[in-house]
Amino acid sequence: MKVPFVDLRSMHMEIKDELQEVFDRVLSNSSFVLGPEVQRFEQEFADYVGTSHCVAVNTGTAALHLALAALEIGPGDEVITVAHTFIATAEAISAVGARPVFIDIDPVSFTMDPALLEAAITSKTRAIIPVDLYGQIADMDRIQEIADRHGIPVIEDACQAHGAEYKGRKAGSFGIAGCFSFYPGKNLGACGEGGAVTTNDAELARKIRLWRDHGSSKRYEHVFPGLNMRMEGLQGGFLAVKLKYLDRWNDERRAAAAAYDAALAETDLVTPVEMPYNRHVYHLYVVQSEKRDQLREQLAEAGIESGLHYPTPLHLQEAYRSLGYKQGDFPVTEGVKDRILSLPMYPGIQSDAIARVVSELKEGCYVG
Ligand SMILES: *Cc1c(COP(=O)(O)O)cnc(C)c1O
Repeated sequence: MKVPFVDLRSMHMEIKDELQEVFDRVLSNSSFVLGPEVQRFEQEFADYVGTSHCVAVNTGTAALHLALAALEIGPGDEVITVAHTFIATAEAISAVGARPVFIDIDPVSFTMDPALLEAAITSKTRAIIPVDLYGQIADMDRIQEIADRHGIPVIEDACQAHGAEYKGRKAGSFGIAGCFSFYPGKNLGACGEGGAVTTNDAELARKIRLWRDHGSSKRYEHVFPGLNMRMEGLQGGFLAVKLKYLDRWNDERRAAAAAYDAALAETDLVTPVEMPYNRHVYHLYVVQSEKRDQLREQLAEAGIESGLHYPTPLHLQEAYRSLGYKQGDFPVTEGVKDRILSLPMYPGIQSDAIARVVSELKEGCYVG
């Protein structure tokens, strides 16, 4: 029995008729870029997250980029984020011409360690981007408290945490803006690319709307040179359909995580920890082992796909060599990178698939 890492196909087959209706509707009204489908999704997603505004864009990278651009962050500025994340978080900082400043993560939550934040703040720091990695929200109260003391805005990278909660509040509702990706494999994914910024700041939302559409709110009148980062009409329609299923899909991910937790408890694998203040939505289910490479190979031989998120931290990437970081700068990040292993995780993963993964893992590790 083969076990894929994700299964987008069955998820989409289940709602095929509804997606087909969107396609027919957009085909007949030809609102291919922005338009009513996107507007409706923006309203529904803002309501879901609990913010007053949502601005839909074409990728999560664009969401981060435009949040920074609308805050007028640019050359000479510094933005603090974590070294253990997908490169898009830092690329958005680079895209506006600012300098990414990395800090380490907490070894239990895998998110920004608030205890390290204050020391990284300088007179040039213009924003802080904590990442809700793997499906759980960073320790926002502690981060926000430090940020507020220094008058620095927080932008939440919620690209892996659609529907996650921190002390009862949804991902994307923290800081001045929340940024989402709707890449197909995310907890809420488009049938293509997509992204959004959520915020309670009307002025910021207005600026991001201008930025995404050539600095224009009225056709052929441009108040500044912006970009083209608009969401497509089809994606807005598909996302509005899929949003209705997000909570159920997240529950299925949580059930799969609970099944893994229980089955792996007697092994020497370190299983993910749901922080007491969080409701984790398991975008990824990441275990840790000293024998990671051996286990990964063994799973592969058994037809079980797994992933590494992420094998090379950002401060050691060729892309960021010019920042001058070196091996040893972020011991927690560097320590976990060789131990982490992402197991198959997707809504609707069957218990026999989980059992296959577990039994294969048990062959390869100490069971006490
Ligand atoms: C996916 C992701 C992004 C970027 O999203 P895209 O839609 O692929 O541009 C940014 N940050 C994190 C943490 C992500 O996982």
